[in-house]
Amino acid sequence: MGMKVLLADEYGFCFGVERAVEMVEESVQKGETVRTLGPLIHNEQEMKRLATEGVATISEPVQITRDETAVIRAHGVTPEVQKALEEQAGKVVDATCPFVTRVQRLASRAAAQDRHVVIVGSADHPEMIGVKGYAPDHAFIIKDETEVASLPRLRNPMVVSQTTIKAKTFFDTAEAVKTKTDDEVEVINTICSATRDRQDAARALSGMVDAFYVIGATHSSNSVKLHAVCKENCERSFLIETEDDINPDDLAGVKTVGVTAGASTPEWLIKRVVERLRSLGADEEKNMGLK
Ligand code: SF4
Repeated sequence: MGMKVLLADEYGFCFGVERAVEMVEESVQKGETVRTLGPLIHNEQEMKRLATEGVATISEPVQITRDETAVIRAHGVTPEVQKALEEQAGKVVDATCPFVTRVQRLASRAAAQDRHVVIVGSADHPEMIGVKGYAPDHAFIIKDETEVASLPRLRNPMVVSQTTIKAKTFFDTAEAVKTKTDDEVEVINTICSATRDRQDAARALSGMVDAFYVIGATHSSNSVKLHAVCKENCERSFLIETEDDINPDDLAGVKTVGVTAGASTPEWLIKRVVERLRSLGADEEKNMGLK
């Protein structure tokens, strides 16, 4: 009997990353020379593919020239960086994910009302650096409730979140923030469900398979977390970057193999992994309507 391959119900590119890649493709097709500020996505294979289309990465706005198109990636940037790009580049394509734009707008609105903003997330994450830039004198970034003690007394605070953090971390922190003010605390959950949806789908599938392949980069935090989730129920879970990382020995005796992918893994790479599994004896598949 052949090996069966099952794809998780949710996998691969999230809405914001897919949109950013499409915006880059559009500019390339118009014949523009495209430069992204920072790597567009955490996937070396996709970055290599984009490089073949002439897309390169810059690290500072000063590196862009008038004859080039600058792309702001899904994480977004501070208003200062956006302005610098607009002054330097021939054209700016803003691929900030709309879910991130929402957090930026909320921070900006609270600052305009002279309120404090507490953002729950990682201070060194590009998304957080960008959001803080919308309320530089009013916002504090804390990673969880253990850092609430470091906050000053807060004025009419608004609490928002990095889009990818855990809901429990957010709500526990928001609750603790109440000890830092006599005013009402406005709590706005700005977590995006993409990460959780992929984890929930992987968890559901991991109990039904003998082996599980998570396609993603080892430095992509959402792929690493996805792998950890799969391991909870399926010991034979592997984080792979490409089809070449599949070791056929790992599939000995396997009847059902699960496949999922991190939010920055492109569809073409997922298809290659499925093809490789097919060549190793997967002749029966389910949920194979690849996006
Ligand atoms: S994870 Fe969510 S917020 Fe982040 S880019 Fe993807 S869709 Fe947007």
